[in-house]
Amino acid sequence: MNQLDRKDLSDRQLVELIAEDIRSSVEGRCIVHEPLSGHTSFRVGGPAALYVYPAGIEALSSLLQFCRDRSLNTLIIGYGNNLLVSDAGFAGCVIDLMETTSHSERSEESPFKYIAVEGERITAGAGVWLNDLIMQTADNGLTGMEELAGIPGGIGGGMSMNCGAFGRFISDHLEELKIMELDGEIKTVTGSKIEFGYRIAPGLKNRIVLEAAFDLQREKAEIVNRVIAETIAEREKRNIMTLPSAGSVFRNPEGYYAARLLDSVGARGMKSGGVEVSSLHANFIVNSGNGTAADIMNLILRLKEKVYTKYNLELKLELRTIGF
Ligand SMILES: Cc1cc2nc3c(=O)[nH]c(=O)nc-3n(C[C@H](O)[C@H](O)[C@H](O)COP(=O)(O)OP(=O)(O)OC[C@H]3O[C@@H](n4cnc5c(N)ncnc54)[C@H](O)[C@@H]3O)c2cc1C
Repeated sequence: MNQLDRKDLSDRQLVELIAEDIRSSVEGRCIVHEPLSGHTSFRVGGPAALYVYPAGIEALSSLLQFCRDRSLNTLIIGYGNNLLVSDAGFAGCVIDLMETTSHSERSEESPFKYIAVEGERITAGAGVWLNDLIMQTADNGLTGMEELAGIPGGIGGGMSMNCGAFGRFISDHLEELKIMELDGEIKTVTGSKIEFGYRIAPGLKNRIVLEAAFDLQREKAEIVNRVIAETIAEREKRNIMTLPSAGSVFRNPEGYYAARLLDSVGARGMKSGGVEVSSLHANFIVNSGNGTAADIMNLILRLKEKVYTKYNLELKLELRTIGF
């Protein structure tokens, strides 16, 4: 069986045959033609030919080996809060370490979801919901991650995006990461040896995050809790979490705020099919109806064009696109 491409996506028999092979050689669950709209915060995206929940690290390694042998494209999905998946879907194998049955339902069962505290060091599996980790830091009187409270997503996705807010990045207090290379090799890498940037992690390209350990400082739990509450209140004040979106669409170009540039070209309220630029934040596209990935991409291109025409500046995407 060889590489899948787009035309094979509709060949259920072929995909089912590959799925059978996966089920017999990889411990875990394998679903075929899983709609990715159910796994992304935008609520758009066509089917993944194969959608696999590996049962643990060994199963993940076997799955990678399987995909390599068959030249199958792979995509590691987190909680899908920063992904724009095309309406055509993904002609390969999506790997889910989070055990999410849908975007809104989270299972606690995953072998990649665990938190351990040892002194001032807190360790979390890739599948841990970031907020759960932050609440644990508070319970243990540890400071350093409060400003990240309210960012929707998991540890794996957060590290891969180097997510952040209010001047804080998730990589700030990173002590070390346990990763798996695509050939299945597991490594522990010191945080300072991994290249991170603003919403990017070049040092994690083609690597799967298995676990992250953070080195924090002692603080009174009530102070940590207060900063978390203030951070969440500040996010809620902006009130941009109500409609399906993927957070900020564009990265801030050096020396500029993308939202201000977009505001100045009249972005707020611009529409494309069932999606529009949020009336509350010019850098958020929200799915206000039955929007499609094509609607979103269309709006993205129009926004880029407007900013380029006025400022001769090319806005770059913060969200990750799949299958375009
Ligand atoms: C309402 C809203 C508000 C947001 N606000 C912010 C904000 O303030 N700051 C901010 O930075 N972001 C923000 N975001 C974007 C998003 O929450 C973050 O990027 C988050 O870290 C994504 O995590 P995820 O688990 O959903 O990752 P996903 O979106 O599923 O994946 C993101 C990337 O990480 C990769 N990935 C996932 N898991 C792993 C793994 N184990 N190993 C290697 N790669 C992996 C994926 O392949 C993908 O390329 C917001 C999004 C929404 C919807």
